[in-house]
Amino acid sequence: MTDTESTWGRRLDAAICEVCDWRYLYDSEKESVTCPHCYKAALTPSTENPADPFGNHKITPGLVAPFSVSNSILSQKLMEFARSYWFAPVDLKTKNLLSRLRRVYVPAWLVASEVNASWQADLGYDYQVVSHRESYSSNRWITSEVRESKIRWEPRAGRLRRRYGNVRVPAMDEIEEIRDKLGQFDTKSAEDYQPGLINKALIRLPNRDKVDAWPDTHLTFRQRATEECRQAAEADHIRQFGWNADYNNQSWSLLLLPIFSTFYLDDNNEPVPVLLNGRTGQLHGHKRASMKRAQRYSVALAIMAAFLFLITVLLLVIEPSLGAISGLAMIVVGVSAVLPIAYSSRFNRRQASDLVFNRFD
Ligand SMILES: [Zn+2]
Repeated sequence: MTDTESTWGRRLDAAICEVCDWRYLYDSEKESVTCPHCYKAALTPSTENPADPFGNHKITPGLVAPFSVSNSILSQKLMEFARSYWFAPVDLKTKNLLSRLRRVYVPAWLVASEVNASWQADLGYDYQVVSHRESYSSNRWITSEVRESKIRWEPRAGRLRRRYGNVRVPAMDEIEEIRDKLGQFDTKSAEDYQPGLINKALIRLPNRDKVDAWPDTHLTFRQRATEECRQAAEADHIRQFGWNADYNNQSWSLLLLPIFSTFYLDDNNEPVPVLLNGRTGQLHGHKRASMKRAQRYSVALAIMAAFLFLITVLLLVIEPSLGAISGLAMIVVGVSAVLPIAYSSRFNRRQASDLVFNRFD
């Protein structure tokens, strides 16, 4: 039994993309090996232990947010992208994007830990003050009751010994950018890991190890403890929470978040990646206009302008008034001949800095 069979329940190999530096687990006997993040290189088999890529602790899967976008939403999102700008490359077609779809899971850490702490806080209890107010109306005095909400604060202190699970912290540096471009991943219906859930998928490996990620857990542990102390004291509010916490018996596993990856070919036959959130279908991809298509439109308009020039010369001899109209049309068509090239080159300049997750050009 290989190491990954004991932790992942199936054979997995480690590989790296030398261009964008993304590292993966995948089944090298079944999966295609082009990097699904940049599409610029084949994955290079890695010598590191796939079950222990950091060399100091095995990584194990915990929860999986499965791919849940329907085929009709996928098709619609890809179609909207393919039709979203002029002079798109010939290869940018919905059916191409659909047929090249691949599945990638990106990781977040799930951390559980025993917490042993002493704490102190102000606990707040709501109460109401009732007073009476007199008012003069319709020739008589009326008494009305006024209720006012107030909070009674009481200092408290205590000890807490609890185990908190599933504290989620980033396992990769790019996660904020991924969320920025693909939106949040709904993880309410995340499932316990089973090997079948990662069929035909690559697993992006973390690039933040436990040492980097551990400090990020503290805020969540503290928030959970604060809320528990409030509930245990049956208080309505809590403030000035302070604690001294020891953490013991931590366990780490991965939460896997789903991304669809596909690509189209630009003018130079270079793949351009397009990525989608596997839960919502939110899409992000470079838009590259085809200069070849734009040039063809410009040449066609230039030929039309030349043809109108000949007609104009002829008409100026036969019928000068029609020649003037034809001349005007020639000028309009002639000037518009530069527009396809001008639009496409400006469009591409604007897109040039829009890199997918900032890790490659
Ligand atoms: Zn890559």
